[in-house]
Amino acid sequence: MLTLAEKMFIDSHAHIDGVEFDGDRVEVIERARAAGVSTILNIGTGDPAAGVLERAVELAERHADIYVAIGVHPHDARLFNDEAEKRITRLMTQSNRVIAWGEIGLDFHYDNSPRDVQMQVFRRQLQLARELRLPVIIHTREAEAETIEILKSEWGNCGLPGIMHCFSGSQWLAQQAVELGFSVSFSGIITFKKAEELRSVAKQMPLERLLIETDCPYLAPAPFRGKRNEPAFVVEVARCLAGIHEKSLEEMGGITSSNFERIFKL
Ligand SMILES: [Zn+2]
Ligand SMILES: [Zn+2]
Repeated sequence: MLTLAEKMFIDSHAHIDGVEFDGDRVEVIERARAAGVSTILNIGTGDPAAGVLERAVELAERHADIYVAIGVHPHDARLFNDEAEKRITRLMTQSNRVIAWGEIGLDFHYDNSPRDVQMQVFRRQLQLARELRLPVIIHTREAEAETIEILKSEWGNCGLPGIMHCFSGSQWLAQQAVELGFSVSFSGIITFKKAEELRSVAKQMPLERLLIETDCPYLAPAPFRGKRNEPAFVVEVARCLAGIHEKSLEEMGGITSSNFERIFKL
């Protein structure tokens, strides 16, 4: 049994298979380990026909401390089809490194895919994840009511866990997520000066539903804001969350790591 301090930190959402890390991926992973990041959940996204999901799975196959989630991001919902469905399902059943379906959801901020297509593809992927008994990673932006409505109808009573990733929504959304049995993962956004409201949402979250993530290469936390983000920086998210909940950094690392391990039965 590890003590809280030894369990350190888990980055519950990173994109380190991407080209942004092609030049120094090994060093990035080493820096994460040196910073006390024991586990990384890497999320494979992009055009499902382009080989990017395979690439994400391969990365996890090569590293004992990296797991992977794959799915079709709401940005790419228009690229989802039977072929994508088969490809993802096959990868999931072939590799025991794939521990979640995601990220899936709705993004009405960028609208990179038509909204009706996003909603349809979100529903379909929730159904598939349920069939495979896999937790889901949810991306939602400016689509709170629609996201909750779809989760209630497709996921509501299935008893499987899920994560609202890179949470930047309202208190209402956080509350709905908790009622649905979901956990809420905070990113570097919570460290930003103007994120007072988000910090107050985080303060009201039950400790057993808290997770931390980088969502790297985006959204580097203070004091690294504006730089390329990387898993080592998840410590700054933990530090901020620890302050909000009046815990030590080590305690918050332990709490969020235990939560992650419970969700994924690691
Ligand atoms: Zn996302
Ligand atoms: Zn992401």
